[in-house]
This record gives sequence, C-alpha cells and structure tokens, in this order.
Amino acid sequence: MEADCLFCRIVRGEIPATVVRDTETTVAFRDIQPKAPVHVLVIPKEHYADVATLAQADPTLIAEVMETAAVVAEHEGLLADGFRLIFNTGAYGGQEVAHVHAHVLGGAPLGPMLAR
Ligand code: 5GP
Ligand code: ZN
Repeated sequence: MEADCLFCRIVRGEIPATVVRDTETTVAFRDIQPKAPVHVLVIPKEHYADVATLAQADPTLIAEVMETAAVVAEHEGLLADGFRLIFNTGAYGGQEVAHVHAHVLGGAPLGPMLAR
C-alpha cells in the first residue's frame, strides 16, 4: 500500500468509487471519465506500478486481474460484440495513474486501436 496512490486510496475506501466487482485480491470500478459506454478499471489491491512490474513479480495476481476483467466483461454484456482490454504503461504508453490497472472498454465500436 502506498499512502498517496490514488488507487490504493480507492482500495482503502478513502476515495469513493462505483465498484462493480470486489474479490479477495482485485477490485473493479467505473472510470470517472468514461471513454466508452462501458469503461471499467480493474486493479490488484496490492500496489504495483505497472503491468510489466506486476507480471514479473506475481504472475498469479495478474492472472486474477485478468479473470476479474473477464467476469466484468461478461457481466457488462460485452462478450457477444467484443471489447478492448488496455494496460497503458509508462510515459509513452500514456499511463497517468502509477498503480497498474486494466481498462475494460466496450458497449460500442471502439474505432482504430491507435489515433494517428
Ligand atoms: P491511465 O491513463 O493511467 O491508463 O488511466 C487512468 C484512468 O483513471 C483514466 O481513465 C481516468 O479517467 C481514471 N481516473 C482518474 N482518477 C480517477 C478517480 O478518482 N476515480 C476513478 N474512478 N477513475 C479515475
Ligand atoms: Zn497504489
């Protein structure tokens, strides 16, 4: 846990969030500025800076993040038409919050993978 980390503060309940799934090791909540009709963030409760750090430090935990993302996608009705799962990582990846999070995006066609 990191005292100043925004998403650690959401895990601790210090900042409100619209939680859609809460497991022993992960939590999923709606993005405050949704970029698609469905936009949910999935995080591990334990603090890791980014997906590369988490994947190498705890492969079981990243699998649990992926499982939660899949269950959220199913519960949000995204499986039939498809969805996008994104881990922005570091400066070039456009990561703004340094607590690893998967974006689950769907509910409409999402357009090209990258804006050019
Ligand atoms: P990143 O750019 O790091 O991949 O994504 C960070 C995401 O966190 C953004 O989509 C942003 O809208 C979202 N976000 C930032 N602050 C908050 C907050 O306080 N609550 C919630 N629910 N989402 C947030
Ligand atoms: Zn954190």
